[in-house]
Amino acid sequence: MPKKRKNRGRKLGGSGHERIVQCYQCGRAVPADKAVKVTKWVSPVGGSLGKDLERQGAYISKRLETRYYCISCAVYLGIVRPRSEEERKIAVPLNRPYRKRGSSKLPLKFLKV
Ligand SMILES: [Zn+2]
Repeated sequence: MPKKRKNRGRKLGGSGHERIVQCYQCGRAVPADKAVKVTKWVSPVGGSLGKDLERQGAYISKRLETRYYCISCAVYLGIVRPRSEEERKIAVPLNRPYRKRGSSKLPLKFLKV
C-alpha cells in the first residue's frame, strides 16, 4: 500500500508507545511524537501594555513555555502547512517558521538553483 509519508506522520520509529500530551488549543490527547512542539518566551504582561512598559525602561521577566499542538490545530494556526508530494520528502523541522506567502515555502538551502 502506498504511504503518504515515510514516517507515517510520526517520529515513533520502532518503539511501540509514546507518552500522551494535551493540545494547548483544543485539549485533545495526542502522542508526543505526533504533536507539534512549540517553545517560546512568554511575557506575563501581554499586548500593548507590556510593550509600553518596556519602552519606558521597565524589566519584565519572561518565562520559557513549551506548548504542544495537535496536527489540526497546528495547521489551523499556521505553524505547519500541508505540503506537496515533492516537498513532503524533504525533512524540515516541524516548528521552523515558514516564509510569508509569495516567497518560497522552503528554506534557502533546500532550493534547487
Ligand atoms: Zn488541538
